[in-house]
Amino acid sequence: MTANLVDTEAATTVRDWLSDFETAAAAGDADATANLFAEDSYWRDLIAFTWNIFTAEGRSGIHEMLTATLDRVRPHGLRIAGDLGEATESEGVTESWIAFETSVGRCVGHLRIRDGKAWTLLTTMHELIGHEEPANHRRAKGAEHGADPNRKSWLEQRQAEAEDLGHGTQPDTVIVGGGQGGIALAARLRQLGVPTIVVERNPRAGDSWRNRYKSLCLHDPVWYDHLPYIDFPKNWPVFAPKDKIGDWLEMYTKVMEINYWGSTECRGARYDEAARE
Ligand SMILES: Cc1cc2nc3c(=O)[nH]c(=O)nc-3n(C[C@H](O)[C@H](O)[C@H](O)COP(=O)(O)OP(=O)(O)OC[C@H]3O[C@@H](n4cnc5c(N)ncnc54)[C@H](O)[C@@H]3O)c2cc1C
Repeated sequence: MTANLVDTEAATTVRDWLSDFETAAAAGDADATANLFAEDSYWRDLIAFTWNIFTAEGRSGIHEMLTATLDRVRPHGLRIAGDLGEATESEGVTESWIAFETSVGRCVGHLRIRDGKAWTLLTTMHELIGHEEPANHRRAKGAEHGADPNRKSWLEQRQAEAEDLGHGTQPDTVIVGGGQGGIALAARLRQLGVPTIVVERNPRAGDSWRNRYKSLCLHDPVWYDHLPYIDFPKNWPVFAPKDKIGDWLEMYTKVMEINYWGSTECRGARYDEAARE
């Protein structure tokens, strides 16, 4: 049972821990920060601290990670992410969604505390400060008012971009493999204004699913499988058939305006030391 009183105690426990973390981190004190974690603890970081997908294990592993990252990351503004739910306590474990900022990004995470020390911590970067996606209240207007006989329509602009990118203008990013990972990444990069091409050896987006065995349905419920920006429809079956997913990926690639080169195989890649690209 989760009563209000327990919520309040849980929130206090979480706030006290976050405040101690922030103080120790602001002082660049890896010893004091690591001491807020249990000897047996885990910190899973997605980008926020390490620019990587990384798990630090145990207080000593966490100390090592903090020593390498604290000065650069400068975490601050640690707080309970109330919009993701209240702090709760059950069977000696207090847990809460949290939010914070670093020197470059806005982050969310999840904290579990046992006997006053952090047992597990998840930290994930949510967006880069100064490079927020143009979504919701930041979305583009779309329509341009006023008479301009030379104005290009959305379709003309889209076609011109697709024809030019990779021929006239070179992309900043080439994603090798247009499966769901490559497609989702391309959708995100488009929102951030990074010119991107996806190359895929199969002819059509979704073929990596279509080519799998005939009776395949997703193994996870469809509500765990959403791509960025568009959730799967609410009337879809719980376990979506593979060809339905294939069609969804093809539709998604089109409406997300992804520059998708099917029937294109990447045979190699090299780093240009001089150009650093
Ligand atoms: C039976 C089964 C059920 C699954 N169920 C689920 C589920 O329910 N929920 C879930 O989230 N995940 C599920 N998965 C996992 C999911 O399919 C994978 O995690 C996901 O497809 C990985 O996406 P990806 O884009 O990284 O790789 P892939 O989908 O494998 O895509 C890689 C793409 O790269 C292309 N490629 C490779 N090399 C080159 C090259 N040199 N040049 C050009 N193109 C290249 C390939 O043709 C392919 O299209 C399931 C997987 C299987 C096999």
